[in-house]
Amino acid sequence: LTPATANAAWDVASLTRFLDGDHREVRQRVRTLLADPRFACHRDDGQGRRRQVLERCTVLASEGLGRLHLPRSCGGAGDPAAYLAVVETLGLGDLSLLVVFGVQFGLFAGSILALGTDAHHRRYLPAAGRFDLAGCFAMTETDHGSNIRDLETVARYDPATESFVLHTPHPGAGKDYIGNALEAHMAVVFARLEVAGEDRGVHPFVVPLRAAGGGILPGRHVEDCGGKAGLNGVGNARLAFDQVRLPRESLLDRFGRVSTGGTYTTPIESPARRFLTMLGTLVPGRVSVAAAALSATKRALTIAVRYGAGRRQFGPPGAPETPILDYLVHQRRLLPPLATTYALHFAVRHAGREVLAAFAEGRTGADRRRVDALAAGVKAVATWHAVTTVQTCRECCGGQGYLAVNELGPLRSDVDVFTTFEGDNTVLLQLAAKSLLADVRGELEKSTRLDVLRHLARPVAVRATTATAARHRLRDRRFQLEALRWRERHLLAELGGRLKRAVQAGEEADEAFLARQDHAVEAALAHIDRVVLEAFAAAVDSCPDFSFRPVLALLCDLYALGRIEVAAAWFLEHRYLGPHAARALRPQINALCADVRPHALALVAAFDIPDAVLAAPIGRP
Ligand SMILES: Cc1cc2nc3c(=O)[nH]c(=O)nc-3n(C[C@H](O)[C@H](O)[C@H](O)COP(=O)(O)OP(=O)(O)OC[C@H]3O[C@@H](n4cnc5c(N)ncnc54)[C@H](O)[C@@H]3O)c2cc1C
Repeated sequence: LTPATANAAWDVASLTRFLDGDHREVRQRVRTLLADPRFACHRDDGQGRRRQVLERCTVLASEGLGRLHLPRSCGGAGDPAAYLAVVETLGLGDLSLLVVFGVQFGLFAGSILALGTDAHHRRYLPAAGRFDLAGCFAMTETDHGSNIRDLETVARYDPATESFVLHTPHPGAGKDYIGNALEAHMAVVFARLEVAGEDRGVHPFVVPLRAAGGGILPGRHVEDCGGKAGLNGVGNARLAFDQVRLPRESLLDRFGRVSTGGTYTTPIESPARRFLTMLGTLVPGRVSVAAAALSATKRALTIAVRYGAGRRQFGPPGAPETPILDYLVHQRRLLPPLATTYALHFAVRHAGREVLAAFAEGRTGADRRRVDALAAGVKAVATWHAVTTVQTCRECCGGQGYLAVNELGPLRSDVDVFTTFEGDNTVLLQLAAKSLLADVRGELEKSTRLDVLRHLARPVAVRATTATAARHRLRDRRFQLEALRWRERHLLAELGGRLKRAVQAGEEADEAFLARQDHAVEAALAHIDRVVLEAFAAAVDSCPDFSFRPVLALLCDLYALGRIEVAAAWFLEHRYLGPHAARALRPQINALCADVRPHALALVAAFDIPDAVLAAPIGRP
């Protein structure tokens, strides 16, 4: 036991094993690698830093970690879950390295795997998986970020030469922010496919960018995006194409094919569905981003909790000063985020399993829609949680937290953009809400307003007449789950009802949705709150070690009451909570913080972040 865990009345290593779950061996390998002196921290943000990150990515590739998800026939291990475990663990360390790794193996190789066919796999994946072929993923354009459907880069098929002509029609159609593009030799480029004068929508192409010696090929323009707020170990660039000729085989043709003579065929006739299916290949990436953001959060919390336990300020006269983590408000700042981090840990794992199963089983329709909504929602919530928690941790460490050597400032700058890339959070939540609405729509079509109201009748509203009864009710897991389920159901049914009435009154469906965007985002967040609590509660129930189960149960209570407290006004407004219960929330959360406090050091020790990876001197146990 390290000093930080010496006082734990339960087995910290056993909790680490429980948290690690599947693929523990590969997680340990990555922890050990990140702690290797070759990966020691270095914060020069110039070109040397980019080179350093690339060298480290080469080491990870040489260990076979970048190809675990690729098929065995292409040199991989056919194990996407192991790959996800690698990405999650890399999030404990340098986030620039994580992003370079994720772009190369997740986005570049992953999109060739998901969108290409056999010939593409055999031709590109073995080298991409070894990092011998450095690639990038070029979807976003300057004028079109979230709105991918309206991208303007064009790939026109020329039957005379059996080739495509790839072109950027104007500067706003240039690809923007493209990670790894300053070094990549190849890009997967998303462009509008035009065949015989007909626009077939956005399709992916493999496009060589550089010659073997590194020189940029004719017709390609690559321009450094310059310094960024963070992640300066990653090279991001703008790309433009000037009538670049590509052989017919460059089209990644799983979902759309062009014959030599120029006939377009597709297994998915509906252009809208085809587009969504292609974009669906981004879904596993969203879970990776959520998992990595959560790892960064664990690192920040480990630093701040340890600092808080050791740092003393003020105290009774004549006695030693008090550790700041013993102050109630310090606990309120750090321990609810710690509980949420544990809760999200299990939710992200659940989302990862669901997404990988959905892909492996080729799920479609409503089953697939639900999984996409889950990945989008979990990505949004986990990355926002990371940003706010890292900032809180920075402040909780005072001036020390501001020193670069203590990592929290750089970490905050690096994790910031996780809320934007792989889908802007606010846009993702709207996508999630639309998916969830599709489920309630079926129910609502047949029902009257009265049916809906009956359906939403409060099941166990806290009508407790005494404060003691209210307190007991709040700590009852069934009540907590029912409260979050009811809020989700209510927000979705109400939204569905409002949309239905608006359309009946003559509004266009799209306009009706836009006029109720705030409601949609709230409903999606409520959905994720419920999913996260269910995942955490299930983990507590299934936990094999009874010694730490009560501590996890405390954290689960803290998470649940925290979410109910955030929505307390809504619960009161809808008369789900009575005044006794609403008033009891705050003291209950305070009491839970006091109960969790003695376990705080052990709970962060269970994240098992090696000292060398934690790096911050104030975060050492
Ligand atoms: C560091 C970095 C690395 C990146 N790497 C890559 C990469 O490798 N490859 C790649 O293809 N792309 C990459 N991107 C691009 C990234 O995916 C986009 O930035 C992202 O999709 C958002 O697009 P945007 O920047 O155009 O923002 P916009 O879509 O313009 O959004 C701006 C704001 O408008 C809001 N907004 C947009 N639409 C709506 C709406 N309908 N309703 C309400 N609000 C709305 C958003 O919430 C957001 O707050 C990267 C970006 C960055 C910053």
